[in-house]
Amino acid sequence: MALTGIQILKMLPKKNCGECEIPTCLAFAMKVAAGQAEIGECPYVSDEVKEQIGEASAPPIRTIKLGTGEDTFTMGGETCLYRHEKRFENFTGLGVLVTTEMADSDVEGRIERFNSLRYERVGVEMKADVIAVKDAKGDEGTFVALTQKVLDGAKDAKLVLISDNASNLTAAAKACGDRKPLLFGATLDNAADMASAAKDCGCALGVQGSNLDNAVEISEKLIGEGLKDLAIDTGARTMRAALEDNIVARKAAVTKKFKPLGFPTVTFPCEMTDDPLMEAMISSMLIAKYAGIVILSDLQGDILFPLFLERLNIFTDPQRPMVVEEDVYSVNGPGEDSPVIITCNFSLTYFIVSGEIEGSKVPSWLLIKDTEGLSVLTAWAAGKFGADLIAQFMKKSAIEDKVKHRELIIPGYLASMKGELEEELPGWTITIGPREAGHLPAFLKEWKPAA
Ligand code: SF4
Repeated sequence: MALTGIQILKMLPKKNCGECEIPTCLAFAMKVAAGQAEIGECPYVSDEVKEQIGEASAPPIRTIKLGTGEDTFTMGGETCLYRHEKRFENFTGLGVLVTTEMADSDVEGRIERFNSLRYERVGVEMKADVIAVKDAKGDEGTFVALTQKVLDGAKDAKLVLISDNASNLTAAAKACGDRKPLLFGATLDNAADMASAAKDCGCALGVQGSNLDNAVEISEKLIGEGLKDLAIDTGARTMRAALEDNIVARKAAVTKKFKPLGFPTVTFPCEMTDDPLMEAMISSMLIAKYAGIVILSDLQGDILFPLFLERLNIFTDPQRPMVVEEDVYSVNGPGEDSPVIITCNFSLTYFIVSGEIEGSKVPSWLLIKDTEGLSVLTAWAAGKFGADLIAQFMKKSAIEDKVKHRELIIPGYLASMKGELEEELPGWTITIGPREAGHLPAFLKEWKPAA
């Protein structure tokens, strides 16, 4: 049963020192209870209390990490059924399958696409995370060689090693060293051997169920063997079964605290269909409905990109707008005669506007005013992008030292603010820019500082 903030507070040293970067112990306790802070962030609690609170405040879906140190892929850690209840914590990992039965060129092609299909959006790099390596022949040497090929070829890939042979898995896991993979393939028959292999290698272990009930049995057995870090494949290989199992597992873990299903799921759309578009659709459904990892048969840009975007949208915290820092940004190497443009700090606005300016090749100063992540009109309506605030920011930004002219270009949507701004910024001319960022390049190419 989860502890309340008051129960956690009773176990804290109550120094109110702020070393946890939260001003008071009470505020810290409330954050720990809400799952927004880790008890380990207070340096004064004993290991015993850490364990006690850590267990009690652990999320119903256990947090599992692949890799070590800073270079890890984290899955699970989920606390709710619906994103609007709080947020989804760790995005679904997207991966590709390679097997020991594949031709070298097929494996190399997948590794090459893993490395090259990367995109940037709102300052976030979108890329695949996982390569699943399958021991399809049951041969240790071939399996280890393929694992090594993936390790060498895809330096930042996290690995899922799939085999029903614990000793083959151990050998391949040892080749991974610090890049701790997920070992995958525990069944009722091999559970004890798999548990020892996972403990020996210090890796999380994947349950390979034949159906949901079977996955629960295996999971219970592995928990009985003392394993804490598991991932679950319920064996579902149809779209409907995969959806049902993922929903049942998440509901059981979150609402009933049912431990054997309190782990992230590993799903295999690559084994559900031969049709790439159907595979993309199933993957899309599984991103929305709780998969920890989705394994695809191949990586193709036209399928990956929409999945990345979906993932970015679903796993963005709905309570925290995406923002960029308030600052003066130089685009295309501006000088003292370059235009000065101002907009809000909603990151989508920033990246669209800066992208358009960059594309125009016109050297420009882009002033980003902190509007708490609100878009231009919303910020203006909320009183966070008013003339007085813009004027204060302009002074603080010291833009006057960077340009000879005194002309500020404001978003077209703020045209009604022109007079007010000119009063707040004596000596400055206010020019109304385009409403849409897409019209900025043409506008900037025509722009000349006001005489
Ligand atoms: Fe309290 Fe610990 Fe935070 Fe200090 S570091 S305020 S003692 S919770």
